[in-house]
Amino acid sequence: MLEARDLTKRYGNLPVLQGVSIDIAAGELVSIVGSSGAGKSTLLHLLGTLDQPDSGTITLRGKRVDQLSARELAQFRNKHIGFVFQFHHLLPEFTAWENVCVPGWIAGSASDGLKKRAMDLLDRLGVSARAEHKPNALSGGEQQRVAVARALINQPDIILADEPTGNLDSKHAHELHDLFLRLSKEFNQTFLVVTHNETLAAQSDRILFMRDGKMVESGA
Ligand code: ADP
Repeated sequence: MLEARDLTKRYGNLPVLQGVSIDIAAGELVSIVGSSGAGKSTLLHLLGTLDQPDSGTITLRGKRVDQLSARELAQFRNKHIGFVFQFHHLLPEFTAWENVCVPGWIAGSASDGLKKRAMDLLDRLGVSARAEHKPNALSGGEQQRVAVARALINQPDIILADEPTGNLDSKHAHELHDLFLRLSKEFNQTFLVVTHNETLAAQSDRILFMRDGKMVESGA
């Protein structure tokens, strides 16, 4: 599904990624853990095509993504990759269901089918009663569920999540884990999740450890 080989990235003189390779199979839920500054977010940004490596290759579903033009990338990202961040970045002037539709509008999906799919997703994620509300009327956990629905709307090949529970209390963090596990098991949704949360990491199919810009054998 996703293959990266020998990725390197520097910011000025600072080597942030020093030859990182990663393989994720379809339907896997993989966690990346490592101390702050290890390069986890940078790696996720490269894999998500939000930034480019200095060297190395990234292949998603057999397609090299490190060679696409900016315009091709924007389209590819919209269709194939879903993002969930610590801060959900929902648009305040749109309702929950409209926020879920945004990536679908960008992809040019027909709007009647899209709304139905958004409502189905909100239902599946347990927040359909909040569909007509704007983000500021939703709890943190509800907002994050809406953000997950938005990440799913275009049926992406992979969801990349950067500290998705970082801003949630433990109850809501737990619910979000359960949701990721359920989507992974029931719908074969592929996830790569950067997390400090040991419970989520322990429940994932595989844990990858990063230190000083490299993958290492263990977190110890
Ligand atoms: P992690 O997610 O593991 O905490 P990051 O990937 O955010 O690590 O950062 C790795 C290192 O790269 C850190 O030292 C950070 O300060 C640096 N860094 C990240 N983004 C930038 C940037 N845009 N410009 C300069 N340095 C950056």
